[in-house]
Order: sequence, then structure tokens, then C-alpha cells
Amino acid sequence: MKIAVLPGDGIGPEIMAEALKVLKALDLDLEFEHGLVGGAAYDIVGEPLPAATLRLARAADALMFGAVGGPQYDTLPRAKRPEQAILGLRKELGLFANLRPAIVYAELADASTIRADVVAGLDLLILRELTGDVYFGQPRGVRTLEGGEREGYDTMRYTESEVRRIAHAGFRAAMKRGRKLCSVDKANVLETSQFWRDVVVEVAREYPQIELSHMYVDNAAMQLIRNPGQFDVIVTGNLFGDILSDEASMLTGSIGMLPSAALDENGKGLYEPIHGSAPDIAGKGVANPLATILSAAMMLRYSLNQDAAADRIEAAVRKVLAQGLRCADISQDGRQTVGTSAMGDAVLAALRA
Ligand code: NAD
Repeated sequence: MKIAVLPGDGIGPEIMAEALKVLKALDLDLEFEHGLVGGAAYDIVGEPLPAATLRLARAADALMFGAVGGPQYDTLPRAKRPEQAILGLRKELGLFANLRPAIVYAELADASTIRADVVAGLDLLILRELTGDVYFGQPRGVRTLEGGEREGYDTMRYTESEVRRIAHAGFRAAMKRGRKLCSVDKANVLETSQFWRDVVVEVAREYPQIELSHMYVDNAAMQLIRNPGQFDVIVTGNLFGDILSDEASMLTGSIGMLPSAALDENGKGLYEPIHGSAPDIAGKGVANPLATILSAAMMLRYSLNQDAAADRIEAAVRKVLAQGLRCADISQDGRQTVGTSAMGDAVLAALRA
């Protein structure tokens, strides 16, 4: 299995090194090939997503992505900015399903701004459709109406095939987890949402093992705070998913702990921590590598079909947290604070124990 490794900028290379340490310690036939991406690529070849990187990405079975961006690139023309690399990879590889787990480890429940008894043990996954909806729907624009008043407008639309493929991705993800899928929409108001719901119900016939439910997005926003433990997998459109996935990540309160994935129709995916390149701490050896290590576990589960190896990595992460090891971002009073590579080494040791 061929993995494209794209460390990127800032803390990207530091956290990626730890994830690779862990992946290489598994007894799997994985081949790693590194590519330039983001500002690191711009500095060398003048493009955030060079053609060679795209070739590498196309040929790989899965991609490990660090982070891109930095203040030195903020004044570049938009097309040259590091963040364009992510958009380009999503588009070129057809990565339409964004997977964002929100997991609260018992030991870190106090890091959340929500009461610990509400979030303790939380383990949910949000699947957000990434390439359709009101973000891309045409027509859109600003026009002047008869009488001279101006109006801004966008178009919410989903084709049947777009809903079908994200619904399938949702059901497949639920099969790998707790077998519960909640589809979030606004079917009481929006035609697009009623259509979404109808198509999800049709697709559900192929997955009799999965318990399907539906929820309006306003209620979902409330339930995520009130009782997040009720959810296993949530599937939703681009706009609602954008908002709900950020809300869900805040339940955990620890940005350095959260992995994510963007998948194509065949399960090939790009795996990355949800955080950015953290230029404020880059090069200091203090970045938390656990989100990237957990992204590697997701890659094994969702793209490479190595569920047992994914379980091993996740168990190793739980173990180091239980041992009291913390990077500075999740450290609380009296805990042992370790740097990036010491955290990676600890996960490695737990994996081998
Ligand atoms: P950020 O996620 O990089 O950092 C926000 C805060 O969280 C910072 O204080 C940072 O030190 C801390 N932090 C982030 N990851 C951490 C980790 N693993 N361990 C410890 N602390 C961590 O967000 P930002 O500061 O808004 O953005 C910085 C740069 O990253 C910008 O150029 C932005 O465009 C880019 N960015 C990239 C991605 C991506 O590559 N997918 C995502 C978001 C932001």
C-alpha cells in the first residue's frame, strides 16, 4: 500500500515524523513517498500544489497531510497561497466526504467547556458533504432588482447522485462503528433537504443492519450540546456540516487531538489533523502529534481496511493519556508535560507493549 506523505508547513513536518514512526512500527506492507505541499512547495517550485505532488497523490492509495500556511504567505495572490493546495487536492482527487470524529478521552473531559459528565466518553463521527450544496450551487451573485434595491443570492442544490454517494459513505462508516446513522437536514423548510431525506431513506434499504434516524439541523445543534452521547455517525450536507463539525470539535476542547479525513467514492482519502500549521509554536518541539497519529489510525481503518491496526494505535493513544502524559496544549495542573517526539515515542512504546 502506497502512502503519499505531505508534511507541509509550520508544525506539519514535526507532527508527521511522529505519525510515520508509529505507522512504520506496525507490521504492515506500507510504502511511503514524500511530496512538497503548501508554502514549503511554493518556496521551492513557486506553486502550493506542484504537478509532481499531484501525480504522487493520484498514484497513492492514501495521503497523510500535515498542515499548510504561515504568515509569510498571507500576502501572496490567492492562487499561490498554501491553503489552495488542500482545495486543489480535494477537487483533483474527488474528495467529497469529510470525516470528522469528535472523541473525548475520559482523562481529558475537563478540557471541554461543556460539563465533564456530559462529554465524558463521547465518540461521534460527523460526515460532511464537501463539494456541493449552497457553497457551489449556481446561480449565485448580487443583482439589482426592479426599483433599484440590491439582492444577494445563492442556490442550495443537491443532485441525486451527490446525495447517494455521501449517504453510502455514511452507512459504510456506521458499519465500521456503532451502526447508528443520523441524517441531519432541514426538511421541514427546504425542498433540497426533503429530497436529501428521501434519497437517504432509499439508500438505507441497502443497509438493514444500520439504525437510521433523521434530525432537523437546529435540533441537532442543540442535541450536540445537550446530549452528544446519543450520536454515533451524523451525515449531513456541506453547509450544515461546516457548522456542526466545528461545534462538535469544541465539545472536546483539545484541537491537538482531533483527526480528520476527506474520502473519494472508492474510499481513498486524505488524512490530516483538524488544526493548522501553528506557526506560533513551529520548530519548538512542543506541538501535540496525537491528532496526526490518530489521523494515521483513521487512514488504516477507512482507506486501507486495516481495522485491527487502527484499533492498536487508538488503544496506544488511550494508554499514554491514562499514563498521564500530556503535550502542553492539553496539559493540566500536576501533569507530566512532554514534547512532540517524546509523545510519539510514548505512543510507540505503548504500541509495542
Ligand atoms: P492553528 O490550528 O494552526 O493554531 C491555532 C492555535 O492552536 C495556535 O495557538 C496553535 O499553537 C495551537 N495548535 C494548533 N495545533 C496544535 C498542536 N498540534 N499542538 C499544540 N497546539 C496546537 O490555526 P491558525 O493559527 O488559525 O492558523 C495558522 C495557519 O494554519 C494559517 O496559515 C492557516 O491558514 C493555516 N491552517 C491550515 C489548515 C490546514 O492545513 N488544513 C487548517 C487551519 C489553518
